Amino acid sequence: MKLATQLVQVGVGRDRGTGAISMPIYQAATFRHPGLGQSTGYDYSRSGNPTRQALEESMCSLEGGKRGLAFASGMAAIAAVMQLFRPGDHLLVCDDIYGGTYRLFATLGAANGLKFSFTDLTDLDALTGNITPTTRAIFVETPTNPLMKIIDLEAIIGIAKRYGILVIVDNTFFTSYLQRPLEMGADLVVYSATKYIGGHNDVVAGLVVCGSEELGEKLAFIQNVAGAVPGPLDCWLLLRGLKTLAARLEWAQASALHLARFLDQHPGVKKVYFPGLPGHPGHELCKKQARGFGAMLSFEVKSKEMVPQVLEKLKIISFAESLGGVESLITYPETQTHADVPEEARRRLGINECLLRLSVGLEDACDLEADLSQALRPW
Ligand code: PLP
Repeated sequence: MKLATQLVQVGVGRDRGTGAISMPIYQAATFRHPGLGQSTGYDYSRSGNPTRQALEESMCSLEGGKRGLAFASGMAAIAAVMQLFRPGDHLLVCDDIYGGTYRLFATLGAANGLKFSFTDLTDLDALTGNITPTTRAIFVETPTNPLMKIIDLEAIIGIAKRYGILVIVDNTFFTSYLQRPLEMGADLVVYSATKYIGGHNDVVAGLVVCGSEELGEKLAFIQNVAGAVPGPLDCWLLLRGLKTLAARLEWAQASALHLARFLDQHPGVKKVYFPGLPGHPGHELCKKQARGFGAMLSFEVKSKEMVPQVLEKLKIISFAESLGGVESLITYPETQTHADVPEEARRRLGINECLLRLSVGLEDACDLEADLSQALRPW
């Protein structure tokens, strides 16, 4: 089956007793035991719930992994992965990364004795130069957030395998529909399922898919012990979101390319970051390692004074944090998603006061263009 078919079919036929096409929401905290020492397979919903299990197994098979695990948020998923490491362990992390992940590593991770090097992972020499005897993992986003850098997964995985270290990919921006890190040899894939997987800006959740049984066992233990699980309704919303993932991404990425070209030509715009533009440094690599360019783009307006005006004048595109939903959203990384990244690091990376990040939704692309056009006037 092609991936688009597998996506639509998630959950179908799982509820054998009723034949329900949509996986039912088992809104139960606990399950009655048939007798002493007996179980229906479900005991208590933190440890396992049928709706969550349908989601976890679907994600595992969609991603080509060995085990899928659902969490209460993307950050809960990444925090669970962080629990795999011990004081003194060193992780290499891409320097351009979601600000919340940076904050988790720099605060709670560091307080627990973990060491992090935030490195430009497009520079493979810098990567190799930063590997130490205590390095245990490389944590990558590609495209990166918000500057849309494309990181060479095959090269990174090759280096990691030589040194015996794990590769963890945050696949939130592309999802397994566009990019398949586990099949390339990565060890773990993490998601903010709040984004494209849920797809409707109505649920906060996270997912981890493990490339080995061993990692699956360890993370299932952490999931149950630490307990940051999503509720059954949230799991059902994610199952429903998955069904339309292919259609949504195809539509949204076509619109994103349209808008990237429009912004690239606009006199009020200094720079556009979108891997689908031939001038983007990661364009060829993106074509090689992914099935598309996604629907996220960032752009710099000519002056910082334009930012409040653009954000206030946009009518269809909402000024709101998050991404990957049917509604187009625009964010200002400087004060929102990346406010916790130190200013010096933001400036070095190119996250400046003129940068806006756009998540292209499913509205008509011409309407979105017209909205941007009127908000950017008089330029
Ligand atoms: N990873 C990426 C790439 C994100 O953009 C986000 C949130 O914006 C997260 C992880 C965190 O996910 P959540 O907000 O679901 O906790």
